[in-house]
Amino acid sequence: MTETEKQGLIRDILKLKKERQAVILAHNYQRGELQDLADFTGDSLGLTQQAAKTPAKVIVFCGVHFMAETAAIMNPDKLVLIPDKEAGCSLASMISGESLRRWKAEHPGAVVVSYINCTADVKAESDYICTSTNALKIIEAIPPDREILFAPDQFLGTFVQKKTGRKMHLWPGYCHVHNRIDTEKIKSLKNEHPEAKFVMHPECGCLTSCMPLADKVLSTEGILKHCRESEDKQFIVGTEVGILHRLQKESPAKVFFPAAEEASCEFMKLNTLEKLLWSLEDLEYKVIVPEEIARKGRIAIQRMLEISDPGGYSRPPAEKPPAD
Ligand code: SF4
Repeated sequence: MTETEKQGLIRDILKLKKERQAVILAHNYQRGELQDLADFTGDSLGLTQQAAKTPAKVIVFCGVHFMAETAAIMNPDKLVLIPDKEAGCSLASMISGESLRRWKAEHPGAVVVSYINCTADVKAESDYICTSTNALKIIEAIPPDREILFAPDQFLGTFVQKKTGRKMHLWPGYCHVHNRIDTEKIKSLKNEHPEAKFVMHPECGCLTSCMPLADKVLSTEGILKHCRESEDKQFIVGTEVGILHRLQKESPAKVFFPAAEEASCEFMKLNTLEKLLWSLEDLEYKVIVPEEIARKGRIAIQRMLEISDPGGYSRPPAEKPPAD
């Protein structure tokens, strides 16, 4: 596509966005041109919170399906669209509502904490949702005598166990993209760039061996904030490579090295400018969460928000605490 064609496409998208009274949200791992065009760019929860604040009637979520579902759960009165319905997530697909129900049956009375990277069905079966930003806070809020089932990311679960000292049952899920980040490559990057600080996401499959090499283990928004505010000038970035676009934009004088060029999420990259335009034209693909599942999922998300961000989000209180 030529630059002129691209600019024409962007003009058409912005015009239609206005006509549809839509808001465009883009995850930090999206293609750069989608991040630049979006009204908000951020992590999945941050985007959902932004969506709830806007008067827009339509939310176009440039991200993956579970993120658009989360936006639909939290914004039941808005139409939520995703430009490519095949934009799934390997991590979210590693546990279903049915398999979580079976796991719960093996551990009666256990508290279920699920990482936000899960389907609406799994959210509905969970007591709490967490993000990589607030996972430590959520786990610390659960009474120490309670058994905890943590799903679906075993590496985030391992990180939380290490930090809190809390034993949990971990579902053996992982993200195939963060699994491509490798300890030996990080060691050689550190040798090549001795000034660079290594910042990593806790979803990395090399977590146990990479953590001792890391200057910081942070969520995507945490990585962005740290690199923006730090006095350091060079960073090795251990997460999906799409984040480098925003990192570079926010800190043009700093240098960022991807920990693994191949850590690019094929699902995230399915969304394109053309598909975004078609999505606004046809009002497709609609992301609809059945009401009962949405109601239960909302309770688990609201519990998280009450712990991590008290008073920071406009919502009704959670309906009931998890069973004792
Ligand atoms: S990077 Fe991993 S966790 Fe994130 S959407 Fe892609 S597959 Fe899922």
